[in-house]
Amino acid sequence: MSCVSESSHLNKFLRQRYLSLPQGDFCQVTYVWINGCSLDLCSKTRTMDSEPKVIADIPEWDFGQRGSGTEMLLASICMFRDPFLLDPNKLILCEVLKQTREPAVFLLDLNHRNSCNKEMEKVKDLQPWFGMEQEYTLLGVDGHPYGWPRLGYPKKQGLYYCSVGADRAFGRDIADCHYKACLYAGIKIGGTNAEAMPSQWEFQVGPCEGIEMGDHLWMARFLLHRVCEDFGVVATLDPKPMTGDWNGAGCHINVSTVQMREEGGIEYIEKAIEKLSKRHAEHIRVYDAHGGEDNKRRLTGHHETASISNFSAGVADRGASVRIPLHVAQKKCVYFEDRRPAANCDPYAVTCAMVRTCLLEEEEELKWNFENNK
Ligand code: ADP
Ligand code: MN
Ligand code: MN
Ligand code: MN
Repeated sequence: MSCVSESSHLNKFLRQRYLSLPQGDFCQVTYVWINGCSLDLCSKTRTMDSEPKVIADIPEWDFGQRGSGTEMLLASICMFRDPFLLDPNKLILCEVLKQTREPAVFLLDLNHRNSCNKEMEKVKDLQPWFGMEQEYTLLGVDGHPYGWPRLGYPKKQGLYYCSVGADRAFGRDIADCHYKACLYAGIKIGGTNAEAMPSQWEFQVGPCEGIEMGDHLWMARFLLHRVCEDFGVVATLDPKPMTGDWNGAGCHINVSTVQMREEGGIEYIEKAIEKLSKRHAEHIRVYDAHGGEDNKRRLTGHHETASISNFSAGVADRGASVRIPLHVAQKKCVYFEDRRPAANCDPYAVTCAMVRTCLLEEEEELKWNFENNK
């Protein structure tokens, strides 16, 4: 098919022969990091003399920033098994640091792990859990939605969500292989489903505690792009890849604290939602990769979204900004869902904003200033 890349036509069976060659004590270690200028992912691999057992075994590395060539440091954060080069090889999620060892600051201020981690430390007694639902859309390398007719459109929406069948579930190989790859790697993937628009899919990561949410979701995104590369297609996290009567792609965030999970927790859930209602605009600014501009195309009030300009909350309401799932309302505890984050959000920024608004002490809140969200 013309919308599939050349490299996917290479003989993957031959590749298997080389992957099974013994490698002695050596270990291939792939460093993965977020390009803070564009929020896309980068990686490079090197050989270690023996298998690293803990994250402290991973030496720091460096790279030249694209464009400028400025040298940055890669500090290891967490280690996963490598589902592509297989055991004992590793994937290492890294934080990008300046030569001074401070977190790198990029033009678009997209390096949020460090600030997020500080907030998570402050609220760790609340044991904040998060689960995020990453939606994505498959495209050919030419940018055309995968499996869509060259001219015209597929049948209108209504038969694709959770669908089965060659005429409606486009690209299940990607979702299935990504799911397996995540499990092998050690990512807390919770499930997957076909979405409302053809060639749109979702996977869920979580529940994860604190900073782990961002770490696991970013690595899960890396695996997604890497699996797509094998199949010769592209996953876009654009929040509204197709204009018109087609669903956009979000990244709903589900949130709970130890208090919310206990009996009677609904009281704390309602308190958190009340606080969110007062900071709608600030949250919209951090819920996509471009300060709210991307979500303007998605949060229209149609296609299971709420309007970008107003906050709303409701039980079992998939048209609200924040939803209390039906089973939560019935049990009067567990968690709530914020449906506003776009597919291309930075989970570090989103979980950080959630903590600042809902969980920090009142006095902390007063000092809070989103403009200094560094
Ligand atoms: P839906 O599509 O109905 O909104 P999903 O099943 O796709 O829901 O996603 C539910 C999400 O809620 C998952 O990411 C899961 O990890 C998360 N989750 C479940 N329990 C909790 C909890 N106690 N706290 C936070 N997140 C949770
Ligand atoms: Mn879902
Ligand atoms: Mn969904
Ligand atoms: Mn959801």
